[in-house]
Amino acid sequence: MERAVYEDKVRGVIFGHAIGDALGLGTEFLSKQEVRIYYPNRLEDLGQIKRDAHRSRWAAGDWTDDTDQMLCILDSLLTQGRIDILDVAFRIHRWACEGGMGIGKTVANVVYSPDFRQQPHAASERVWLSSGKQAAANGGVMRTSVLGVWESESADAVRRNAETVCRITHYDPRCVASCVIICLAIRSLLREGIHADRLVDDLTVTADEYDARVREYIEKASQSEIAKLALDEPNSIGYTLKAMATGIWALIHPITYRDGILSVIHEGGDADTNASVAGAILGARFGFSGIPRKWVDSLLHRADLEVRVDRLLTMI
Ligand SMILES: [Mg+2]
Repeated sequence: MERAVYEDKVRGVIFGHAIGDALGLGTEFLSKQEVRIYYPNRLEDLGQIKRDAHRSRWAAGDWTDDTDQMLCILDSLLTQGRIDILDVAFRIHRWACEGGMGIGKTVANVVYSPDFRQQPHAASERVWLSSGKQAAANGGVMRTSVLGVWESESADAVRRNAETVCRITHYDPRCVASCVIICLAIRSLLREGIHADRLVDDLTVTADEYDARVREYIEKASQSEIAKLALDEPNSIGYTLKAMATGIWALIHPITYRDGILSVIHEGGDADTNASVAGAILGARFGFSGIPRKWVDSLLHRADLEVRVDRLLTMI
């Protein structure tokens, strides 16, 4: 792949993630029905986001925790030049203590454990065990995209990095599998001209190594229209495999970045997280040049993101 195309795709992953998050806030925690009531003419721009009690906690054009935590990982990579889980844990902890807007229950339970900054994996495993091994929230997969870009010359390295960073807060094998699957998909889109069907088959085999419950979500997402994922189903909002499935759906079905994001956010549910994951995948598919200019320009912290991506590109 030509360097310029590769760079466009890397930029697409980071911006695609942030813009998906920012637009997804507009429908976060709404049912599909409520989305229609909120936005009878559809939500197509950041400026249209309704300023209700939940959404007005963020400034117009801002992204949420999904991108904040992705940037904890990215900033750690830019500073340390390697995967340093204690440094990532430190950054997530600092973010949480400085307000941590939008922080999820799992992240909060783990991050405020007294030993978190010294032994994040131990704290995370303990919280997972105390949930009866039930907790499998989407807080790991929502921030993982940048790890599909880092050390992308090696699938094994990407896989290891995705595992170890996920486990900082999310220990469940379904969470780890979600991160690995999304990162390997992004890596393949950046590196290999692999056919999507073949990639999905490979990802399914990988998923089986983590947990038998992952496969059906990959299969459903690759074969069905997005409505079949029931993203606004109340009992599974925030479930890691729903967010991962949205990413797999985005890998196969949409024909542009714009169409993909608009489809995801109009399903409601945990829309900012689902659109972060889908946005990173779509950004890897269609590149930064495939993201509507208007969306890039209306991102509140666009310049901050640009500086970071430029630095990242000098390191990879
Ligand atoms: Mg969020």
